[in-house]
Amino acid sequence: MSQLKLDELRSEAEAILARYEQKRAAMLPLLRLIQEHLGFIGSEAEEWVGKFLQVAPSHVHEVVTFYTLFHKQPVGKYHIQVCDGIACALRQGRQHLQELSQRLGIQPGQTTPDGRFTLSAVECLCACESAPVAQINDTYVGPLIPGLTERLCDTPESLPGLPVSYQGVVGLTEPVLARRFTVAQSSSIETYIRDEGYQAARKALTQMTPDQVIAQVSASNLRGLGGAGYPTGKKWSFIPKESTKPKFLVVNADEGEPGTIKDRYLITLDPHRLLEGMVIASFATGCRKAYIYIRGEYATPANILEKAVEEASRYGFLGKRIFNTDHGLEIVVHRGAGAYICGEETALLESLEGKKGFPRLKPPFPAIAGLFASPTVINNVETLSCVPSIIQRGGDWFAKLGFGKTGGTRLFSISGHVKKPGLYEASHGITLRELIEAAGVPEGRNLKAVIPGGISAKILRADEIDVRMDFDSLLAAGTMAGSAGVIVMDDTTCMVEALWYASKFFAHESCGQCSPCREGTGWIFKIVDRIYRGEGRPKDLDILLGISSNMEGRTICVFADAAAWPVQSYITKFREEFSAHVGKPGADPPRCSICWGGEFHIAVGNVHAA
Ligand code: SF4
Repeated sequence: MSQLKLDELRSEAEAILARYEQKRAAMLPLLRLIQEHLGFIGSEAEEWVGKFLQVAPSHVHEVVTFYTLFHKQPVGKYHIQVCDGIACALRQGRQHLQELSQRLGIQPGQTTPDGRFTLSAVECLCACESAPVAQINDTYVGPLIPGLTERLCDTPESLPGLPVSYQGVVGLTEPVLARRFTVAQSSSIETYIRDEGYQAARKALTQMTPDQVIAQVSASNLRGLGGAGYPTGKKWSFIPKESTKPKFLVVNADEGEPGTIKDRYLITLDPHRLLEGMVIASFATGCRKAYIYIRGEYATPANILEKAVEEASRYGFLGKRIFNTDHGLEIVVHRGAGAYICGEETALLESLEGKKGFPRLKPPFPAIAGLFASPTVINNVETLSCVPSIIQRGGDWFAKLGFGKTGGTRLFSISGHVKKPGLYEASHGITLRELIEAAGVPEGRNLKAVIPGGISAKILRADEIDVRMDFDSLLAAGTMAGSAGVIVMDDTTCMVEALWYASKFFAHESCGQCSPCREGTGWIFKIVDRIYRGEGRPKDLDILLGISSNMEGRTICVFADAAAWPVQSYITKFREEFSAHVGKPGADPPRCSICWGGEFHIAVGNVHAA
């Protein structure tokens, strides 16, 4: 039966294959196609894909089991995935998960006997502005409030999507990146052209040389806004001009850092701005083929991008001889399949080539040997979305908008205990205090702690928020700007519980290649978990600090360091609170009056290390 169905998919599979330089790169979209039609990917499907792509079925199997969005078994007609990340936890996400569990009569990970519902607890969906959130099949739903939680079970076919929570600018006279967020039908090419869209690309391709474009981007002090902060102009200049290999532009839209929502907004509300940035970047670096790697859960943004690519191609802004020049660009939208580590650029390339998302040893760097071993430039969505304004208004203008060695503005995602969660645009020179005051801590509560740049960033106490939000100032303050995902915690937060969520995330997401990371994240979570459940021991705190320091700088990628930093900063800065949780030697630890203490417990395994 399923063999018959698989053979019926052959023509669609051939069309997918045609988009890629190498057969195996079609692996993820092909597996998605099969899952959409059969409901899951069994061994028969794995063999079929193996034959089709000319790879061993064992390679297909390792891919299927690496990514969380592929199912080895059938799931219910409605798959409710409740976010169990830290931003949702701060807004009672766990209570909604528990309520759904009781209402459906199943535990997370189970399916109702009638096959109607599967319930899952998942790591951050990156919809933190609408926390607590859930995803039902491909649709994001939130914020979960009692009535909506009931509707998830009663009328799952007709649920509202997420509200738009762009909250405006802070300290700027006008938005730059968010300029079109409030325009009606902002994602359509007609409104984009009306708003002078694709004029910057026209200028770059018809009036400038690639070197002049790179010079403007260098002068702008644009830095990688995915989190690394590397100067963009410099990165582009590394692509070897003399190479006879094809060159690729890859857009990292695998937004997965808990607390971060900006790329979803840019893609959803202004996709042509990204595409225009790509046309300019590809011209500057000599790339004629580009891939947008978008996180698998972002189904609606991926559809919007597909439509935008089709529109831009129809209008002649993509394809061959753009603006009647020798430059051409083809763009493929490629969906991931559920793995945080694929946000690391070399893991992303492996994934794009149809493999497990294992980070590569560097060197060689992607500029020399990236996608399909060819020179590759990888940029984040927000970074590329800055490029049209730089070309239109000049690198100097952009540099002056920023602070120090970081030019321009940034989209700050603010979530957690604030009155107005959402996306704010500000200069990099804004202070963390100004941002938090714009979002507002709820009345009657006091600020306790802030994560300034996504869950990997070291936490700051309430007395450390007079710091500017540019890369260098935050580094000097002992933390990092990262993805600019600001997670605010007020004085109702238990720091042990907060660390429990952070360490659960890292234990779940380690790719498992390096022992210090695989074992370290696992042990950290086990120890934090026992402290959280009231079974900790006084010496656990120093054991945690010891494990985390042994993870730093000893692995293939910086994930292990990022997993160590929350442990070190939470325990060091809130030691008294952690000590109170573990109690005194020989005595039972006291029960924390704030946290859940693991009452509704979910087992966490390392999903990628199988
Ligand atoms: Fe994988 Fe962790 Fe090693 Fe990075 S540090 S390659 S995530 S095991």
